[in-house]
Amino acid sequence: PIPISAKVQQLRPSPSMAAKQRVLELEAAGRSILDFCLGEPDFDTPAFIIDAAEQAMRAGDTHYTAAQGKLSLREAVSRKLATENGVDYAPAEIVIGNGAKQLIFEVLAATLSEGDEVIVPTPYWVSYPDIVTLNGGVPVITTCGPEVDFKLTPEILEAAITERTRWLIVNSPSNPTGAVYTRDEWLGLVAVLDRHPQVALMTDEIYEKIFYDDHRTITPTAIAPGLRDRCVVVNGMSKAYAMTGWRVGYAAGPVEVIKAVTKLLSQSTSCPCAFAQTAATVALETENPAVEQMLEAYAERRQLIVEGLNAAPGIACALPDAAFYVFADVRPLLGTVTSDGRSIATDIDLVDYLLDEASVAVMDGTSYGTPGFLRLSFAASNETIRAGVAAIAAAVSQLT
Ligand code: PLP
Repeated sequence: PIPISAKVQQLRPSPSMAAKQRVLELEAAGRSILDFCLGEPDFDTPAFIIDAAEQAMRAGDTHYTAAQGKLSLREAVSRKLATENGVDYAPAEIVIGNGAKQLIFEVLAATLSEGDEVIVPTPYWVSYPDIVTLNGGVPVITTCGPEVDFKLTPEILEAAITERTRWLIVNSPSNPTGAVYTRDEWLGLVAVLDRHPQVALMTDEIYEKIFYDDHRTITPTAIAPGLRDRCVVVNGMSKAYAMTGWRVGYAAGPVEVIKAVTKLLSQSTSCPCAFAQTAATVALETENPAVEQMLEAYAERRQLIVEGLNAAPGIACALPDAAFYVFADVRPLLGTVTSDGRSIATDIDLVDYLLDEASVAVMDGTSYGTPGFLRLSFAASNETIRAGVAAIAAAVSQLT
């Protein structure tokens, strides 16, 4: 047999992908599952974007592009960042990748040396710690629980920084909590980073366009331009435009980092899909009601799921600021016993119980570094949400 590298043997498969697999297996066995694990919009890509891709393909846009991504798309991203985020990045300071995830990976690959530390606050997006480890870094997990609204504070940050710290990764809006850092919260963190010039900041703003009330995403360099030389902002098309399968994301940052990432891409994927880049350009440059309509649907579902879960005994759930996830507190249910004598000691036990008893699939908080919570995606129909929360409430009512 061909030996598998130690690095990959140690790698855990993505827990959200594993959950999806489990749902598919149960469905193949004839079970009907209400799935709240989805990490992507349930909407199809808006028609105007599909039309743009089709036209591009027919017009011969089927060849390799520059490894850094098409200039036209980088120009569109540059305009988007200037007008919507208040940050100035020239096309040379922007790179296009096969999704935000690839760029998070390549930025770390391009900048980490063995043993460099990367601060990853909890609850974290499941992939960050593994991407850090794969690239030779050491994830430094800082616990940010409900007492700090699941957000990194200046005190927690200060305590986590060492001479080996190279990066802080902040996901705002957050998957899994939907929390968005406010201007003052950013300024507090920036003051700490000002004291530690060895620490760079990566912000993952992939959920930026899905927000409620006035919870707009703030790109930190817009309010702290002094940090520009050591900030990388990552974003993409997946969530805002329901384009997860198209694989287009972008990163903006210091030109040396962008060049290093481009070099890596040129030796690995060559470039992202040509006509997907063209369609992404059209998506960014076109005002279309589809994006707003999706947002309205999410807003309604958010109310529905939060009210439904809060009505269930032992579950408490706050309204998220953004994204399409709720992060529900189920700590009162831990230590209970099911009617057939199984003990529910952890959030993982509860996930298994809900799948068996209620045919409802949810993610455990432990996968996000935060035991005692469950993540539910509300990128699902109102009907699924109503049926799901009713089934959850019925199942947890039987715990004693
Ligand atoms: N960042 C976060 C926080 C996510 O939740 C996801 C997808 O689930 C990604 C990045 C990946 O986005 P993309 O599809 O652009 O690779």
